[in-house]
Amino acid sequence: MSKTVKDLIRSIVDFPHEGIVFRDVTTLFADAEGFRMAIGQLLAPYKGERIDKVIGLEARGFILGGAVAHQLSTGFVPIRKKGKLPGAVISEAYQLEYGEAVMEIHDDALTPGERVLIVDDLLATGGTAAAAITLCQRLRAEVMGCAFVIDLPELGGRKVLEGLGMEVHTLCE
Ligand code: IMP
Repeated sequence: MSKTVKDLIRSIVDFPHEGIVFRDVTTLFADAEGFRMAIGQLLAPYKGERIDKVIGLEARGFILGGAVAHQLSTGFVPIRKKGKLPGAVISEAYQLEYGEAVMEIHDDALTPGERVLIVDDLLATGGTAAAAITLCQRLRAEVMGCAFVIDLPELGGRKVLEGLGMEVHTLCE
């Protein structure tokens, strides 16, 4: 029997800190059939919908989002951590377990009314994706959905994003 997307995700215990089980998608990306399957499943709900840009969240969202954008024949736009984008940006801060993080997008990356799809590897608390949604909305783009390979349901990210009126698509828990 062929492997599923979930079968190809590796769990690394005590990374990046003791007590954390890190879900590692590099093993999925390295598997030709698995990577193709994951991209196909991520974009399936949006086939036939008008999507103008795919937004990838640093860093694994760049790999997934780039492939999804290519398949949907859309442009690709990165949302990066503070200080990484070279042009003029808008920024959005969000809470982490300890402290705060900031995500940024180029201020001319989207035009008002553009329909975008946000892509990342994993949905945990939803803080990163919620910041990305806000950035897209501040540029007056319409967020058509958020797609992730992995959902960690006990962390409640899906509820947070659905509370923002988002459609959330995930491949496995
Ligand atoms: P959230 O903001 O709490 O939803 O965390 C999601 C962000 O943290 C995403 O950008 C993920 O790439 C990253 N992340 C958190 N935990 C993991 C993990 O176990 N594996 C891979 N990425 C993770």
